[in-house]
This record gives sequence, C-alpha cells and structure tokens, in this order.
Amino acid sequence: MTDLTPVLSATWGAEKSWALDTYTDHGGYAGLKKALAMEPGDIIAAVKDSGLRGRGGAGFPTGMKWGFLPPDDGGPRYLVVNADESEPGTCKDIPTMLSAPHTLIEGVAITSFAIGSNHAFIYVRGEVVHVYRRLMQAVAEAYAAGHLGKNIHGTGYDLEVTVHAGAGAYICGEETALLDSLEGRRGQPRLKPPFPAVAGLYARPTVVNNVESIASVPAIIDRGVEWFTSMGTERSKGMGFFSLSGHVKNPGQYEAPLGITLRELLEMAGGMREGHQLKFWTPGGSSTPIFTDEHLDTPLDYESVGAAGSMLGTRALQIFDETTCVVRAVTRWTEFYKHESCGKCTPCREGTYWLALILKRLEAGTGTQADIQQLLDTCDSILGRAFCALGDGATSCVSSSVKLFKEEYEAHVTEGGCPFDHSASAIFEYENASESPAIEEALA
Ligand code: SF4
Repeated sequence: MTDLTPVLSATWGAEKSWALDTYTDHGGYAGLKKALAMEPGDIIAAVKDSGLRGRGGAGFPTGMKWGFLPPDDGGPRYLVVNADESEPGTCKDIPTMLSAPHTLIEGVAITSFAIGSNHAFIYVRGEVVHVYRRLMQAVAEAYAAGHLGKNIHGTGYDLEVTVHAGAGAYICGEETALLDSLEGRRGQPRLKPPFPAVAGLYARPTVVNNVESIASVPAIIDRGVEWFTSMGTERSKGMGFFSLSGHVKNPGQYEAPLGITLRELLEMAGGMREGHQLKFWTPGGSSTPIFTDEHLDTPLDYESVGAAGSMLGTRALQIFDETTCVVRAVTRWTEFYKHESCGKCTPCREGTYWLALILKRLEAGTGTQADIQQLLDTCDSILGRAFCALGDGATSCVSSSVKLFKEEYEAHVTEGGCPFDHSASAIFEYENASESPAIEEALA
C-alpha cells in the first residue's frame, strides 16, 4: 500500500495554518534562503533534474519551460501564476492558497529569482473572494518580513508581487487567455507561436505556471532533488494532490506519490458510500476521458493513465456509483463547456452548443438512435480542430461515455426517458436540497 506524502499539505492541520509565523515555525522560507545563495541557473537545473512536471493538467516539464526564456536583454520578464482554478471537480489550488498561501509565495520568490523576474503576478479566480483576500494578506506579511520587496534579505534582489482577481471565466485558465485578461483585454486564447516564453505578458518573456507547480519548488530546493525523485514513478516524479469527490465516504485532498492507484486512494477514503459500487470516474477532471472499475489499478501517473486512454490532468477524481445516470452527468459537464466556450472558433462555439442540445434531448427521452452517432460525429468535428484545449476537452466525457456506456444511451431512446431512479443519487440530493447547513454556516 502506498503511503500518503504530505508536503504541500503538511501544515494544513496546524493552528492558523495560513499565517506566516505558522509557516516559518514549520521550516517555511528555508528554501528561499537557500535559493538566494545559489546561482539562478543552478536553481533551474535543480528543478529540471527533479523531473517536476506542470501540475495544472498538461504535465509539461517545469524546469524545461523556464529554460525556454531567451537570454536577458535588460528588459522586464515576468512570472505569472495561473490560479484560475475552475474546471468541474478540480479543487486543489484553492485549498492550497487558503490553507498554506506561503508555500505558493515562497515558490513565487524562488522561481522569479531563478528566471530573473522582478515582477510576478498571481491570477486568481475572482469568485473566490476569500482566497483572494487570504493571498493579499499573505503577500503583505511576506513583504513585511522581507521575503518580497526591495533588496530581499540583503541580496540586492527586488521582487514585486501583484495578486489579480479575474472576472470568472473558465477560458482564463488557458495561459494566453489569462495573459490577455491580465492586460485588461477580453480573455481569449492567442495564436501560438509566439509562445509566452518569448512574447507573453506585455509582449515580454513570461513563464506561466500552475499554483501547485510553483508551490512544489521550495521543497525541491530545500530538501533536494534526490528526495523529490525518490517519490513517484520513473517518468512521473514527486508527489501531488489527488482530489477525491463524489460518492466516496471521505472525499478530500490526498497528497500522494504519482503512480498511486484509485484502489489505494479509495481504501484511504473509506471506500464508496455504503452499499454502492463504483460505476465510472474521471482521472483528471471533467476534460479527461472517463474510466470505470476496470481501471482501479491503473497507476495514476502521466504515462500509465495516457496508455489506458485518458489523461492525468489535474488529478480531480470524481467518483460516481451505480445510481448515477452517465447521460445526465455528461449533459451537466457539456452544459458547462457550452457556457464557457469563449466563442473565438467555430468548432467549439457551435460544437458544444450542438452537443448540449443533443444530450438534453437524449436525457429527456426525445432523442433518437441517430442522435447517439451524431454526438460522436460532432466530437470528431471539434477534436483537433478547435483553437485551444477547451474544445478538445469538451469532447472527452462525451466520446468516452458513449464508448463505455452505449447501452445506457440507447436505453434513454428505447425507454423514452431516463431509466434511473434519481431519488437514489447524490446528484438528486444536491439539486433538491433547499439549503445546506454546512454552506449556511460557511457563509455566516
Ligand atoms: Fe474559444 Fe472554445 Fe475555440 Fe478555445 S476552443 S478558442 S474556448 S471557442
């Protein structure tokens, strides 16, 4: 059985875990002090050697991304942290920023120093005002302690950090749309090349990294490459968050080495809810093809999940039991993609509209057998033809669910409606809850 490896979440249970004092009492900012005594190139080399791969979904090697920046020309260059977490089921960066914001801020300081940036931005989702406030507070604490600002710890290095609240569009999690939004424009993806490393924010060299990627850097510098590479698999190194949600007894964040399996995670989470069995699940959020109980022992690393036909994505493991109608779940996700499509390209703008329309028809029992094929044809028209990854991602749950649960789609046609009794599903409980005591309490 693989053990959990709490690193980013190590202090989450501490009293006032978000405060600077708590963070430093647990060894926080030791990585920054070490980094400031290193050559910037050595920091980049260490991150490359660690094998850290982007934790935002794409899995691109982080150190290599930093290495793409052109040589210093005396002008500004930027670090931009993508904290615009908003995919259905993905919920790891917001808890990190709420519970231990200094892991991110320390990572920002080390990364900025390594790439020669004097101004970093954290682009956080605007709806999560509590996270925005906590980040602002943590940044102020870091300035006051001399971890940010002018002449950091007497080294002559200056760094300004700006926390920016977005306006709440899923597309702004796409790195170039995020940059446009940060510049004050409508958030829509840019044509690449040029890539942000060459012409990013304000057309200057820019590194864009996810929260979890940057928050992983201090531990790598402080504890060393060997420590980090001792976790994970041969090509997927280190630890990461696995966010279990849905029909499990104890949903939550499980920080574990890459390569752990869902079977192991489910054991830690107390298993499926009482009396129910696993039906399907997403290995990496709603943009990744779904898996079934056949994939319980698939190692959750980039290569193994890819070889099994899906993607590790953001490791958002949404778990559904046998009471869930797959057509209904896929319809909900597709409505999200239709709503969030930025409209820039036709395959995604029109395609997600048609996918949602057909799925709703099927769910309501007014669809036809031809509609099922039409879903697959529409996915074909989007996949590989959309301008950015949102379009491709929107097709994943549709095509994979038709492949794995075709009879269930057909049953909606032959039975003239959904064959499921939704009173047994948690979706029903959620949709019919007049109010949630937990939510009321949190808002009070
Ligand atoms: Fe916009 Fe969708 Fe095209 Fe991306 S794929 S540019 S979100 S319309």
